[in-house]
Amino acid sequence: MTTIQTQLDAVRHRIRVACHDAGRASDAVTLLAVSKTFCADAVQAAYAAGQTAFGENYIQEAVEKITALKHLPLQWHCIGPIQSNKTRLVAEHFDWVHTVDRLKIAQRLSEQRPEGLPPLQVCIQVNVDGGPTKSGVTPDDALSLAREVAQLPRLHLRGLMCIPEPASDFVAACAIFKRARGLFDLLNVEGLKLDTLSMGMSADMEAAIASGSTMVRVGSAVFGDRHSSSVVGRSGGLQPKIV
Ligand SMILES: *Cc1c(COP(=O)(O)O)cnc(C)c1O
Repeated sequence: MTTIQTQLDAVRHRIRVACHDAGRASDAVTLLAVSKTFCADAVQAAYAAGQTAFGENYIQEAVEKITALKHLPLQWHCIGPIQSNKTRLVAEHFDWVHTVDRLKIAQRLSEQRPEGLPPLQVCIQVNVDGGPTKSGVTPDDALSLAREVAQLPRLHLRGLMCIPEPASDFVAACAIFKRARGLFDLLNVEGLKLDTLSMGMSADMEAAIASGSTMVRVGSAVFGDRHSSSVVGRSGGLQPKIV
């Protein structure tokens, strides 16, 4: 077994246990493996261990990997901030985008999505805890943005995504994640047909799953520490970026 395979199995186990503890079906939560800063070989090792959905933050780095791995049936999710001048690359190369937080970006993605590809699957990023990152729409503005995004022809609105600040403990983390779940449920009551709530990372996936996440984005617990140099499959050509 490779290290990545062992770590992937451990993450899958954590997800199953968290689903069980929350009284949720064991397949209620999808694992997105966050491969930022790791090379194509690491993605390939995860694929060999049965993982097909991968998340990337840095568009240029991602496009290189996506192109190098074109021969594999992988699903690529953009989970990093998107500037206007990068929307075309995102629309042409990714399957999903989790970080839509303004209409202008959504409109560009819709206009630039190539005809030959299925609609781009999108989540709206919500700043649920008023955190200082500034990314994400406020909860108050989420419904109107969701309604506008849902009208765009080449996008398929799937749900919401959030990246709260690290919480002090499990209960505090759940309190924040439950706000996101409440908003997700409200938007569905309002008639939007959302099936994806993207929240939870290596450190807080249990709290996210207990609070109703349907997709966890897990990087270091699958691929190793992005800060250490002793990582298997660390990208040689790309500078590791610390986030
Ligand atoms: C890096 C990143 C992750 C994964 O973080 P880990 O702590 O390595 O699991 C998840 N979501 C986003 C948006 C990220 O940037």
